[in-house]
Amino acid sequence: MNDKIPVKDVTPEIIEYDLYEKRKKIYTRAISGFFQKIRVRTLWVLMLGYFLTPWMSWHDRQGVLFDLPTRQFHIFGITFFPQDFFLLAWILIICAFGLFFVTTLFGRVWCGYTCPQTVWTMVYMWIEEKTEGSRNQRIKLDNSELTWTKFRKKFAKHALWIAFAWLTGVTFVGYFTPVRDLVVDIFTLSAHPWAYFWIAFFTGATYLFAGWMREQVCTYMCPYARFQAVMFDPDTLVISYDYNRGEKRGARKRNVDPKSQGLGDCIDCSLCVHVCPAGIDIRDGLQYQCIGCALCVDACDSIMDKMGYEKGLISYTTEQRLEGKRSHILRPKALGYALAMLIVIGAFFTFAGDREALGLDVIRDRNRLYNETPSGMIENIYTVKVINMDQAMHTFELSVSGLKNMTMIGRKTVNVRAGEVRSIPFSIQVPPTSMIQQNNTIYFKVRSIDQNYVLEKITESRFIGPISK
Ligand code: SF4
Ligand code: SF4
Repeated sequence: MNDKIPVKDVTPEIIEYDLYEKRKKIYTRAISGFFQKIRVRTLWVLMLGYFLTPWMSWHDRQGVLFDLPTRQFHIFGITFFPQDFFLLAWILIICAFGLFFVTTLFGRVWCGYTCPQTVWTMVYMWIEEKTEGSRNQRIKLDNSELTWTKFRKKFAKHALWIAFAWLTGVTFVGYFTPVRDLVVDIFTLSAHPWAYFWIAFFTGATYLFAGWMREQVCTYMCPYARFQAVMFDPDTLVISYDYNRGEKRGARKRNVDPKSQGLGDCIDCSLCVHVCPAGIDIRDGLQYQCIGCALCVDACDSIMDKMGYEKGLISYTTEQRLEGKRSHILRPKALGYALAMLIVIGAFFTFAGDREALGLDVIRDRNRLYNETPSGMIENIYTVKVINMDQAMHTFELSVSGLKNMTMIGRKTVNVRAGEVRSIPFSIQVPPTSMIQQNNTIYFKVRSIDQNYVLEKITESRFIGPISK
């Protein structure tokens, strides 16, 4: 007789889950179509703009140069000095409201067509396609053993990626330091160490973001991708799959009426998934990873064409239209952003109109309070800085007032180019009998003498010396 009581092992089984899902590599398939053509044209405009702008000259100077050491930003003839930086802040605010306005109306067009991450990733995908082949060839290559052919293809891809990233880095630094000198300095190994550092930094960032991380930047890193959802409303354009028309999805022969088989218009070919750079299936509904590139629209339209169905199973639409309601372009949120943008534009022009075209700084030499010259005059030393913030070169005349019989020793006229700061050393001599008190207020004046319109600026300074007894 078995006197043992049967027991059941109830020790809980320990199952370990990884909290971080490993990234699944996305193999996108190239597609052409109406929206892809727009994207490619946009890409050309942006790329040419980015790479050529620093090479353009404007009045003997680099057209766009953010000269940090002198704290002057030159943008096609307009020079922004530190005192003008609030104008740049206004421009950024205008751009922000402009972006909000466009996003409210058209959804993620910025992300899908113009964001640098999207544009550079497109170039990197194109290089990948040219070096490693089509989507299927790339999948096969990645799953194959390392051979000479595989090594050669991978090497070519990464070498081109790094070369393009390097060009991106050099160009970026070329916006902050004269690009022609920079390129010569790089090849003669005489560039500033910081230039090498920033070129290396932007080369690495471009290679990493556009080559390796791609959609992960949009999904996990981009703050704009996260907060733009608040700008969406039911009338915002989104890319959407027409569920009612597409379902039930399934394969069928070309000339068969899908309804007779109980099918919708989606033939379940997965082309819309294969072209998606975010690696999502738009048929599962609107997803935050979707960057609105419309490649799935082009893909599905090409299938609809082949099947002889009406295009637009996946299309730009709005939530309202999907529910069979009317969409509105003019609505409170969009009008609010437009109004805010117009107000900021108005403020910008008001402040820009008040912007002074001439600056004058007077720095008194503090090493000595005053000198007594052999001829018995009291002398103070100054450095006068004339800042020409106008769009043209001017000849300026300098003068001083405030005490009787003042003599200026130094250049009284000076040419200053647009956007230039000229420092002029000066001494001022006064006979002791002119001294009113030990510390006197004097006025420096600078005035343009070469144009129909007059630029003038007066600045106060001090003249120090003994009082005559
Ligand atoms: S779902 Fe369509 S629009 Fe969205 S990212 Fe993918 S391909 Fe682009
Ligand atoms: S491309 Fe169009 S037909 Fe093909 S799976 Fe996607 S939605 Fe269906």
